[in-house]
Amino acid sequence: MSELGFVKDGALLFSEGRVAAAGPRESVLRHPQAASAAVYDAGGRLVLPGFVDSHTHPVFAEPRLRDFESRLQGKSYAQIQEEGGGIFSSVAAVRAASQEALAARFAVQARRFLECGTTTIEAKSGYGLDLESELKMLRALRAGAGASGLEAVATFLGAHAIAPEYRDRPDDYVALVCERMIPAVAREALARYVDAFCEAGYFSAAQVERLFAAATSAGLGLRVHAEQLSHGGGARIAAKFKAASADHLDHADDADIEALRAAGTIATLVPGANHFLGLDAFPPARRMIERGLAVALATDFNPGTCPCWNMQQVLSLAATRMRMSAQEAIVAATINGACALGLGSTHGSLEPGKAADAAVFDCEDPRELAYWFGANLATAVFKRGELVAGEKALKK
Ligand SMILES: [Zn+2]
Repeated sequence: MSELGFVKDGALLFSEGRVAAAGPRESVLRHPQAASAAVYDAGGRLVLPGFVDSHTHPVFAEPRLRDFESRLQGKSYAQIQEEGGGIFSSVAAVRAASQEALAARFAVQARRFLECGTTTIEAKSGYGLDLESELKMLRALRAGAGASGLEAVATFLGAHAIAPEYRDRPDDYVALVCERMIPAVAREALARYVDAFCEAGYFSAAQVERLFAAATSAGLGLRVHAEQLSHGGGARIAAKFKAASADHLDHADDADIEALRAAGTIATLVPGANHFLGLDAFPPARRMIERGLAVALATDFNPGTCPCWNMQQVLSLAATRMRMSAQEAIVAATINGACALGLGSTHGSLEPGKAADAAVFDCEDPRELAYWFGANLATAVFKRGELVAGEKALKK
């Protein structure tokens, strides 16, 4: 994870949305297509693959400012939830919103991801918690992403929380998700993955096993929110089912780390959530990396626990709070994020044949991305070879 393959005085040649050549400038300029290509001069600035943000909840109706204030007054996440805030306030707002309104709001959000250098995101449902509202979220995501240019890999997160109507009969809600929602999502090809929140008071490890079995038989991939607030056993279930990713992992122990490594499951860490929740502890990134577990970084962008879409801020937190090197953080935010979405062979690095997704940053040294914290240094962003954000300085 510490090897960037950095090229000084490099160049890229894009053709039909893909990288045609990459490497030292002199060799790229010798490519037969180079002479007829439009030129963007990055002026010696840092160019990276577009960020692949592999954990977000970007479809919602309104920010959760009341929760934010309550927390500043000292209330815990659990207390806020009990008082009707938390996930359930987002659920009420999403249920009341139209698909068009959700799509329009997401399209605005998608621009912000692109402007900060993120070219692909994973995006979860999970604020509907009934069949129609979950489908509405996923359809809004598809429409909003199509309009914006941002690539979004959809994940069905009906198991984000027990729906309020099922508060006293959680197993019936799990049955509803397994027997009705997952098949409906698969039928309409609205998501590539199924996710679940494995945590005390949400979904037990046994319930997540049932959800994973239903997702697998519907042909959908697996990811899980695991070991975030306590040790709930989600990491072991992820390893058992060879899930694509286990996310958060604040309370993962050494046996969890070894099980995930052996299963080839990626550990997706979201330090922005720890930061925004004002926590002192962060996930054990160094222990994971030292033990050979592949780590991805993501924003966890959502209205309750991490209203941040800027991956550059996540790189900074990974460095200062989890002692990841800037190189490790960049790998985690690009190729490892792509691998966590099953896109490792097509996204996440600038190699011939891969998607021409790249961002130019107003600095020269990759360490600066984690150093100038709080800034957006992206000055030009390319998706599939098209300039989609930043400077309009493409010369013919
Ligand atoms: Zn999440």
